[in-house]
Amino acid sequence: MTEPRAPAWPQLLERTTALAGSFLESLPERPVGARGTVDELRATLGGPLPAAPADPVTVIEELARNADPGIIGMPGPRYFGFVIGGALPAALGADWLTSAWDQNAHSYATGPAASVAEEVAGEWLVELFGLPSGTSFGLATGCQMAHFTCLAAARHALLARSGWDVERRGLFGAPEIEVLVGAEGHATLHTALQYLGLGADRVTVAGTDGQGRMDLGSLRQVLGDGDASLLVCLQAGNVNTGAFDPLGPIIEEVRRRRPNAWVHVDGAFGLWAAVSPELRHLLDGAGAADSWATDGHKWLNVPYDAGYAFVADASAHHAALAPPRAAYIQYGTRERDEFEWVPEYSRRARGFATYAALRSLGRDGVREMVERCCRIARQMADRLAAEAGVEVLNEVVLNQVLVRFTAEGHDPDALTRDVIRRVQEDGTCWLGGTTWHGTAAMRISVSNWSTTAADADRSVEAILRSFQAGRVG
Ligand SMILES: *Cc1c(COP(=O)(O)O)cnc(C)c1O
Repeated sequence: MTEPRAPAWPQLLERTTALAGSFLESLPERPVGARGTVDELRATLGGPLPAAPADPVTVIEELARNADPGIIGMPGPRYFGFVIGGALPAALGADWLTSAWDQNAHSYATGPAASVAEEVAGEWLVELFGLPSGTSFGLATGCQMAHFTCLAAARHALLARSGWDVERRGLFGAPEIEVLVGAEGHATLHTALQYLGLGADRVTVAGTDGQGRMDLGSLRQVLGDGDASLLVCLQAGNVNTGAFDPLGPIIEEVRRRRPNAWVHVDGAFGLWAAVSPELRHLLDGAGAADSWATDGHKWLNVPYDAGYAFVADASAHHAALAPPRAAYIQYGTRERDEFEWVPEYSRRARGFATYAALRSLGRDGVREMVERCCRIARQMADRLAAEAGVEVLNEVVLNQVLVRFTAEGHDPDALTRDVIRRVQEDGTCWLGGTTWHGTAAMRISVSNWSTTAADADRSVEAILRSFQAGRVG
C-alpha cells in the first residue's frame, strides 16, 4: 500500500492558471467553433483505462492539449449561439475557489459560508428582479431544474387546496391538475411536467402570435372557468425571438376566471429585462405570478451551472422540496439549509459564483450589461437588414435576432442553412439555426458580458461574406 503524497499545490495550480489564462486570452482571436472531429477527440482522449497512476500536472497538461480541438470559444465575445453567456472574471475566480473549498452546500452545518453567500445572493436577486417580498428562492443547476422546483411547489399548493398531500401520497388517485402552456413554451417546461408526473403532452395549448407571444384571444378561448386546479406556464423571452407573453393581461384574466390557478413564468433570460428601466415594461404584471425561473449561466454570465427558482409562497416551496428528515443530518434553526429549496441533496456551493458576479457588477453593472447586449443585437439587426436579400424576421425587443437570406435562383431555406454553415466554418463568430414558423432562420443571441460593438461589426461582416459566398456558390 502506498500512502497519499502531499500534493505540490503551487506547481499544479500555477500550471492550471497558465493553461486557463492562455485559453481566456486567446478567446478574442481564436476560431470560435470546434476544430477537432469526434474521431480525433476519441483517439486523443480515449483508450483503455490506465492501470498506473499519473502525475497531476501531467494529467492537466495532457487534458488541456487533447481537449483543445474540441473546446469551443463559448465564453468569448463572438459566440452568438443558443442563449449562452460567458463567465465574468469575479464569477470565474469564485468558481475556482468553490472547487478548492469543495464544500458540500446542502446545509449550513456542512458549509456555513456557502449557506450565507447563497442566502445573500438569493436575496439580492429577489430585490434585483423586484419580486414580492417574502419570495423564496433555490439555486438549481439551470432553468430546467428551476422550472422543476417551481412546478413542484405549484403541484403541492394546488393539490393541498384540494385536500391532497402529494408529497406523502403521490399522484395515484389525486385530483387532476389541468396544465396550460403557450404553443411556443420552451422544451424544458415540458420536461419539468414530465418529471413531475403532470405529463409533458397532457397540456392545454394556447396559441401564439407572429412573434411567438401567447395570444390573449386564444388564451380566453381555452382558459375555461371555475374552481378546478390549473397550472399556467407563461414565457418572458421566447428562445427564438425574445418576445414576451402579455403577462399582465393574461395573469389578470387567469385570476378573474380561475381562482385555483398557479401562474409560473419562464424567464430564463427574459427576467433580466427587470434590471433596465428601458426594458422593464416587457415584464409589466409579472410580479403577480406565483413563481419565476431564470438562469445565472446565461445573462448574468456566471459559469455553469446556475439556475434560479423563485416562489412567492415560500411555505409551498419548502413543503414541496424539503426532503424527509434524517437522523444523521444537522438542521439549521436560524440558518438556511440550501437543500430544502432545490431537488438536490449533496450539491456544489454554486452560490459563491453568483454572489461574486452580483458583487462585481453591482446593480448598475447588471443593467449596463443587459442594455449593452440589447443595443448590440439591435445594431447587428439594423446592419443586416440594410442589405438586399437579408431579412430580419422578428421585432428585436431584447437580445435575440432571427435572420433569413434570399437570392435569385436559390431556395431561401437551403440558402439560409448554407450561410449558417459557412459562418460556422469561417470561425469569426458562431451562431446556429432554427426553424421559425415553417422557414429556416439564423439565430443571433447576444448574451456575453465581453461582446463589443466592434465584435458585432466583425461578425456582421463575416455573415455578409458568407451570404455572398453562398449566393455565388
Ligand atoms: C435556456 C432556456 C431554458 C432552459 O434553461 P437551462 O439552463 O438550459 O436548463 C428554458 N427556457 C428558456 C426560454 C430558455 O432560453
